[in-house]
Amino acid sequence: MQTRTHPLDTSAAGAPHTVTSLHFGPDSSNAGGHRALLQCSLHADEIPPMLVGWHLRQRLQALEAAGQLVGEVVLLPACNPIGLAQQVWGRLQGRFDLASGQNFNRHYPSLAAGAAQRFQAGGSPLGADPQANTLALRAALQAELAALPAAGALQQLRHTLMRLALDADVVLDLHCDNEAVLHVYATPEHQGSALQLAHCLGAPLLLLAEDSGDGPFDEAQSGLWPQLRALLGAAVPLAGFAATVELRGETDVDHALAAADARGLLRFLQQQGFVRELNEPEPTPQAAPPDCAVRPLAGCLHLHAPFSGVLVWHLPPGQWVQAGQPLADLVCPVSGRSEALPSPVDGLFFAREMQRWARTGQSVAKVAGAAPLRIGKLLSA
Ligand SMILES: [Zn+2]
Repeated sequence: MQTRTHPLDTSAAGAPHTVTSLHFGPDSSNAGGHRALLQCSLHADEIPPMLVGWHLRQRLQALEAAGQLVGEVVLLPACNPIGLAQQVWGRLQGRFDLASGQNFNRHYPSLAAGAAQRFQAGGSPLGADPQANTLALRAALQAELAALPAAGALQQLRHTLMRLALDADVVLDLHCDNEAVLHVYATPEHQGSALQLAHCLGAPLLLLAEDSGDGPFDEAQSGLWPQLRALLGAAVPLAGFAATVELRGETDVDHALAAADARGLLRFLQQQGFVRELNEPEPTPQAAPPDCAVRPLAGCLHLHAPFSGVLVWHLPPGQWVQAGQPLADLVCPVSGRSEALPSPVDGLFFAREMQRWARTGQSVAKVAGAAPLRIGKLLSA
């Protein structure tokens, strides 16, 4: 394992921050550019990914020592040092940058158009070798990124994470929801790999969107190759698979769960050609993992609170529900009003709000339906 540090310039203000990346297996520059990158807790107050990363680190060290890694695996065990240092009234606040108010998982630059121009200006056309094409386009993408201004620690964090991920064939951004079952976000072009990932993790839900709005980290990687193909033609390989994995809810921090998630991620890396043998006993036969439902992100409907009150849930996330079925009671302690909150659609009730007080209009639950009913920006703030 090789540890590298990537300091962020904080000359403007604030404490110094450093991103740490752990590199296992052969350096991708000597392994035909074969790299997988897994980053933990871009939203720094989402803790489960950091424990999964700790389990992964042990396993990857053992696999490296046993000579079983055939591609480079890069692990960012806590990828957002700015967010991790933000305490407000005694609580970790890691979703939004306090200095700017911006979400740490939004506003990643769109590099395809600029990189395509650079590539064309270079004068060498794409050839018949997909790997050579990939490497040439990655060089153009890195040059485009390096040319963008990166003033301030937040922009430098984004650029640092992008720089590490642009050279990867597989990018997994590990998050968690409020209270939820395990689920995966990816783009439709990569549905095959995304389903493989969901099956390895036993995730019951895969949500697909081509452009969910505001440039989240995973789409800034996975969207590149289809965009480059549209600009430069069919010789562009679909070289970068990226997905966001939501490792259940914020309090699902448990060694057994994290070890199982690390096993699932390693199985996926094995299927993607990064690991030869996993060196683990055959898993004892268990009940079949749940089928994975593939749903459009635009079909994921939110349940909103019609007034402020106490949320009393009827059922945990992970249940298939019907439109109109009550998911919770909302109780106003002042007026005495109490109303059942019905599911907005037939589908998988997969995530709900953790706080038991809802304000008027707040989204308090998500149900994944089959029909793409929403338009515009598809992610929450
Ligand atoms: Zn998150």
